[in-house]
Amino acid sequence: MFRIKNFIDGEFQEVNSGDYIPNIDPSRGKPYGEIPDSNNVDIQNAVEAAKRAFPFWSGLKGHERFHYLLSLAEGIERRMDEFVNAESKDNGKPISLARAVDIPRAISNFQFYASAALQYSSESHHTEGLGINYTLRRPLGVVACISPWNLPLYLFSWKIAPALAAGNTVVAKPSEITPMTAYLLSEVAKEVDFPSGVLNIVHGTGSRTGDALVRNEGVKAISFTGGTQTGKRIIEVAGTQFKKLSLELGGKNPNIIFADCDFDKMLSTTLRSSFANQGQICLCGSRILIEDSLYDRFKDAFVEKVKLMTVSDPSKEETKMGAVVSEQHMEKILRYIDLAKREGGTIICGGSRVNLGGELENGFFIQPTVIEGLDQLCRTNQEEIFGPVVTIDRFANEAEAIEKANATPYGLASTVWTENLSRAHRVAESIEAGIVWVNCWLERDLRTPFGGVKSSGLGREGGFEAMQFFTEPKNVCIKY
Ligand code: NDP
Repeated sequence: MFRIKNFIDGEFQEVNSGDYIPNIDPSRGKPYGEIPDSNNVDIQNAVEAAKRAFPFWSGLKGHERFHYLLSLAEGIERRMDEFVNAESKDNGKPISLARAVDIPRAISNFQFYASAALQYSSESHHTEGLGINYTLRRPLGVVACISPWNLPLYLFSWKIAPALAAGNTVVAKPSEITPMTAYLLSEVAKEVDFPSGVLNIVHGTGSRTGDALVRNEGVKAISFTGGTQTGKRIIEVAGTQFKKLSLELGGKNPNIIFADCDFDKMLSTTLRSSFANQGQICLCGSRILIEDSLYDRFKDAFVEKVKLMTVSDPSKEETKMGAVVSEQHMEKILRYIDLAKREGGTIICGGSRVNLGGELENGFFIQPTVIEGLDQLCRTNQEEIFGPVVTIDRFANEAEAIEKANATPYGLASTVWTENLSRAHRVAESIEAGIVWVNCWLERDLRTPFGGVKSSGLGREGGFEAMQFFTEPKNVCIKY
């Protein structure tokens, strides 16, 4: 069994408590490694190391940080296959997805923010009759990056890269459920001689390691992606310490389909936006809203295609749907499917666990599931399921589409399908969400603001938004 270690002050270190937790392969339902469950002492050591490294790292020129960040991107690229295999095994996601999306995106995150270290600049305001004001943007110090299990290295690096580019030193905690690629990243940091203490990676459970990190007084800011409930707990603890917070939380995203859409394009993209990564992407459209006149055609065509989607071994190249991430998560998804039935929904496709037999017989596999006949205000349509489960519902007109789209506490992302340009703009403006995709899904330009409204979060990541989060502005006023 492979035991991973914490990476603190440029060294691999044993966990202070001596406690380890199993790392489970979700496609086999069996442990294949062990993870340290770090405590306060490990966190304190990491924060101290990051504090010591801060004067050096924040004092570097932009082009020096650029080279260091690029070396991380290159180090991942050199070990591409290892990263791809690790991500698929840890998470249960199809290996083709890890190869096409997760690991390339992690590389891009480091490349993109390497270049931001070169390009970041601050503002200046000329005040007529007085003089000038200019804004100094300084790094914050030691910052915490906490990420979830669904896109492990993708989201981990999406936080670490801008934090480092802006001149901060980092203590990062990946999800305990998917720690392997974060561990491999620490190996890369060691290989490329990344300066000691600048990037520290500490493993463990949220309630112990994550909580200790959030509470640590040496931490100046927390960039967190995860569930809304965890986000609330972090606000309760860190808000009273006046730490800067960036919170990317849950979603219950509408996928709004008008009758005038390009049907084939919409259908193939809707299959992806419903079930990619087994529906475990915060941006998946889990509530599909279809205009009345298209409803029956959509339902027939969609269900026919969903029935053809087979769940299989994530390590096989041809697999499109793998395992969900853990037994606990699988049970949660199955409970929601039961709830949907009790709420009066009809399961028109899927709805059960899948037993693939052989060495996968204990794996956490669920059929892609489509549910019909539920009100938008029922729990199934209000609460985040985060699995391969979508509901379909109809709307009569644009106003009703918008009303239904906005009828949840969440507001992360949304998708709109229409060939009517004016309607696309109108609907995009009216939807309560941080991101609207029109006639596409998951197209990402890393310069754009990324985040949600309402219970989906606080603040934005992406582009210069992240650089601003990870710096403190100071206005300097100079009189003529
Ligand atoms: P969690 O909120 O359970 O966990 C996220 C991270 O926080 C994990 O590293 C977790 O550790 C840690 N954590 C848990 N409790 C605490 C605590 N008290 N203090 C500090 N850290 C803690 O989310 P999941 O990992 O289950 O991820 C799924 C959620 O993430 C979904 O709600 C999804 O919508 C959301 N998400 C949002 C995205 C966005 O951009 N808005 C993108 C991707 C996912 P551990 O795993 O060890 O418990």
